[in-house]
Amino acid sequence: MVNFIQQEIENDLKAGKYSEGIRTRFPPEPNGYLHIGHAKSVCLNFGLANYNHGLCNLRFDDTNPTKEDVEYVDSIQEDIKWLGFDWGDRRFFASDYFGKFYDFAVELIKRGLAYVDDLSAEEIKNYRGTLTEPGKESPFRNRSVEENLDLFARMKSGEFEDGEKVLRAKIDMASPNINMRDPVIYRITRSHHHHTGDEWLIYPMYDFAHPLEDAIENITHSVCTLEFEDHRPFYDWLLDSLGFDVKTRPRQIEFARLDLTNTITSKRKLRQLVEENHVRGWDDPRMPTLSGMRRRGFTPAAIKNFCNEIGVAKSNSLVDVAMLEHCVREDLNNTADRVMAVLNPLKVILTNVEEGKTEYLLADNHPTLGGKRFVPFTREIFIERDDFMEDAPKKFFRLKPGGEVRLKHAYIIKCEEVVKDSEGNIIELHCSIDPTSKSGGETANRKIKGTIHWVSATENLKAEVRLYDYLLTSDEHGNFPEDFIAALNPKSLIVIENALIEPSVKLTAAGTHYQFLRLGYFVVDPDTTPEKLVFNRVVGLKDSWAKVNEK
Ligand code: ATP
Ligand code: MG
Repeated sequence: MVNFIQQEIENDLKAGKYSEGIRTRFPPEPNGYLHIGHAKSVCLNFGLANYNHGLCNLRFDDTNPTKEDVEYVDSIQEDIKWLGFDWGDRRFFASDYFGKFYDFAVELIKRGLAYVDDLSAEEIKNYRGTLTEPGKESPFRNRSVEENLDLFARMKSGEFEDGEKVLRAKIDMASPNINMRDPVIYRITRSHHHHTGDEWLIYPMYDFAHPLEDAIENITHSVCTLEFEDHRPFYDWLLDSLGFDVKTRPRQIEFARLDLTNTITSKRKLRQLVEENHVRGWDDPRMPTLSGMRRRGFTPAAIKNFCNEIGVAKSNSLVDVAMLEHCVREDLNNTADRVMAVLNPLKVILTNVEEGKTEYLLADNHPTLGGKRFVPFTREIFIERDDFMEDAPKKFFRLKPGGEVRLKHAYIIKCEEVVKDSEGNIIELHCSIDPTSKSGGETANRKIKGTIHWVSATENLKAEVRLYDYLLTSDEHGNFPEDFIAALNPKSLIVIENALIEPSVKLTAAGTHYQFLRLGYFVVDPDTTPEKLVFNRVVGLKDSWAKVNEK
């Protein structure tokens, strides 16, 4: 593992810090499902711990009661496990430390480093100053320690209304860093908390809670995204002020968040998509959530490879989603069995094949993994409508009137007649087979430019196949239109009700992957029942990422 954070860890170890071992944490707020951006953080935090023979904690950062829920706690755990990481018995809730946070706040007051302020939220904002002007001190800033202790205790016991008072750190209203201008560290809010119920009426602010959570858990390296860089001085100030030893206390290191083209990574927007039913749920295969990607058929190996490939940087950049799809394709290419399916069928009658007879042709399941299966071949088959063209250009090497093409794993066929209905629509083709052209036959090696896939018209399985496209397309900076709901792609889901698949896939379980020859990678969806197969297209076969990188 080579990245600048690992470098920092090694520097710390060399300097004699953290002799007890490296400890990281993944600290999700349980207010939504994990998405691909979180996966980067999960891989980084667990990856750093594993690489350094350390430990990574799972900590639910549940200090904001209004938007949090146990549904999210459960899904987050499932997703991290699915990725293949293990927090052992170290699953923590920040809300378990509410008592400790309170004691630390009291300690700050005792040291003269925190005060109860009666200014309203509005006034605090007005007093804060701007990037160019210093802030103004609150008239309540110089309350005595005794008065502050008394007021803070009464905040806790419910004597004041929500928002009536706050506790603030006493640092410097003239600091060039606005985060150091006496930040609010506790507020009163009578909200029900999913973990602590109605026990608490006051809740710590994130910037106050986070460093303490890290310190309580003996975290050594607190890895977070770049927007917290300006918060680091407060992180250090707080731990300094409470007397934590620099040699052992956590240090915050920021890295660039993952932004992907055509991919929404704002939890707020994702929640809106779910709540307003623009998608079928958090696990809709179009969602960039881990549960959505799982249902879509992305694999943990592919996601982890992707996270390794993109690396860890100190400045934000936009990653092409084609790279993620490339990693998925690469993984599935190595593991998925090949089968034949026809999504848009055109009937072909093979006039010199005996009626009612089925020949079982042997077919390879995978180019390298081996394994074979039987594919039934019959007088009537289906091919893909696109694979036939009546007025074909010269370079069209699939089927055309009078032309020949090879049926994969089977015979060379020749198109003898095009049958149309009264309106001129093509309803079927009559073709003949070259009976000695199958594998092992006399004319097996006869040169034919095109090979197409097919499925028996009488021995097949019907399936629903769901094809996906991006919910939204971003501009070159990764931005979406302001009104992103109006910009949603109306064709992000296309359902093919009656696709036809070779019978070898009968009774396969949800989560099984296949490559449908020439069509892409597909996965069995959990909606599948013994009566009805449902497939999701994971990705197509065309790899725009690999192409770009060859050039
Ligand atoms: P919010 O703060 O709006 O709730 P969040 O995306 O920060 O959203 P958290 O649950 O706090 O959600 O995130 C958990 C961890 O995942 C944090 O350490 C955060 O830095 C990291 N993380 C979130 N989004 C990304 C991203 N796009 N790239 C990398 N890491 C991310
Ligand atoms: Mg966050």
